[in-house]
Amino acid sequence: MSDSNSVRTAVVTGAARGIGRAIAERFAREGARVVILDLDGAASEVCASEIAAAHGGEALGMGCDVSDRASVEAAMAKAHGRFGSIDILVNNAGVTRDNLIHKMSDDDWDLVMGVHLRGTFVCTSTAQRYMVEQRYGKIVNISSTSSLGNRGQLNYSTAKAGLQGFTRTLALELGRFNINVNCIAPGFIDTEMTQATAKRLGFTPEEYKAKRAETIAIRRVGVPEDVANLARFLCDDEASYVNGQVIYLSGGPETRR
Ligand code: NAP
Repeated sequence: MSDSNSVRTAVVTGAARGIGRAIAERFAREGARVVILDLDGAASEVCASEIAAAHGGEALGMGCDVSDRASVEAAMAKAHGRFGSIDILVNNAGVTRDNLIHKMSDDDWDLVMGVHLRGTFVCTSTAQRYMVEQRYGKIVNISSTSSLGNRGQLNYSTAKAGLQGFTRTLALELGRFNINVNCIAPGFIDTEMTQATAKRLGFTPEEYKAKRAETIAIRRVGVPEDVANLARFLCDDEASYVNGQVIYLSGGPETRR
């Protein structure tokens, strides 16, 4: 977020809680204006006002379904109208609908593809118009170690692998406009998403985290701030030669499970 004297505007999707919120807070701490987009408009507004109060900057929260083009275009236009630029986009909104293939419904497949793949496409194609015009932009897509294969997550794993190809191709297309596109693929991060997985598997969140930590090289699960720190680095001008990369963030080298 450094380099010029201008204050950056960072749009983070799915940011009313979890990893997205931590990313928005990290950017606000760096002095950026943050735009919180999430399905729940009221939660987005509360989150934005809490971040603004905590960090003293400007924050805007809006209800937005990332898979709905009209909703995304309206939100981005409002953010641009308020702050005058869209410099950073973090495509973070996500859902899981886990099941083995013989139990996975078409709706579970379509929803996960719709939020992760269509949502990232719609948000990016909208934001890049502003970024190309201003000849500046940073885009970070949130993939997952599940992209390497994870039993019971056929839809999610497919979508998260897709985001890696999306990142590489977009980096090739947008680099000439001074827009960097990178991807973070986190392993286990302690959020409501992983707490729901614990419950589904019959564990308490603490039991599940302890069990998962045993398999992680540094022997702890990740926290949202781990992802936020890397997102901040990728969106800093000190990282302007990092482009089209997928960075696994999982407490160890990523191996096939
Ligand atoms: P989370 O706590 O469930 O937060 C996800 C947020 O995205 C929720 O606020 C959710 O809103 C919102 N969202 C869902 N669908 C949306 C849509 N169509 N439009 C706008 N917002 C939408 O999950 P998280 O753990 O922070 O995950 C954030 C991202 O990291 C996701 O892309 C996830 O796949 C990825 N990731 C997470 C982990 C992990 O271990 N936690 C690991 C690797 C990757 P609602 O609550 O209203 O649905």
